[in-house]
Amino acid sequence: MTLEIIRCLSDNYAYLLHDAATGETTLIDAPEAAPILAVLKARGWRLDHVFITHHHYDHVDGLPGILAEHPATVWGNAADAERLPSLDHAFAPGDTLPGGALVMDAPGHTIGHVAFHYAARSALFSADSLMTHGCGRLFEGTPDQMYDTLMSFAALPDETHIYSGHDYAAANLRFAARFAPDAAALTARQAALAELAVKGLPTTGTTLGSERLLNPYLRGHIPAVAKAAGLPGATPRAVLAEIRRQKDAA
Ligand code: ZN
Ligand code: FE
Repeated sequence: MTLEIIRCLSDNYAYLLHDAATGETTLIDAPEAAPILAVLKARGWRLDHVFITHHHYDHVDGLPGILAEHPATVWGNAADAERLPSLDHAFAPGDTLPGGALVMDAPGHTIGHVAFHYAARSALFSADSLMTHGCGRLFEGTPDQMYDTLMSFAALPDETHIYSGHDYAAANLRFAARFAPDAAALTARQAALAELAVKGLPTTGTTLGSERLLNPYLRGHIPAVAKAAGLPGATPRAVLAEIRRQKDAA
């Protein structure tokens, strides 16, 4: 499968997955039509499916413009169908979608948020739940829900690539540096991000193994992280809630 990472709006990512064997192409989230249509055209791909992670405008507003040119089917969470764009297929967490995507429940940022896991290509499309060096803001869910979401991802293999919905990597890493990240991993990633910025390349697609060394929301069980959050000895759940609170106040 070929992956195209597409910058949309000011800092969103959309993803196109093309399976050469079947000729099928799937779009994950539709922030903005023009940049996505441009890649489809350049590649000569017809769009078959759109998978939606959650109802926020910056993940769905490109749909009408895309569907006007490609008669793709739209897939979203049945539990959130009333506030998603009109769906051709409503799915539930645990379902497997065309192309082999497993739907994972991922509440926290919103209640109906889902992620898509492609085990065969070691890829998790996590949108605004687990993000590069951070996690999404808790607009609707509780810290406990985000904790459970992130722990379900933490059970995936280290080599899983994490494709999030936004390019917040640099700001997230600056914040993560307060919470006792692995020193060598931090230095290496700071250098890598500087290089990606110079080249104008995407920052998404880090591995879960790398996030385990850097992402404070996956590291609440580590005593030095709890201490840096000001909650020595607290549970990982409480540490996540406190780090998220400090991020919101930052
Ligand atoms: Zn969102
Ligand atoms: Fe978003």
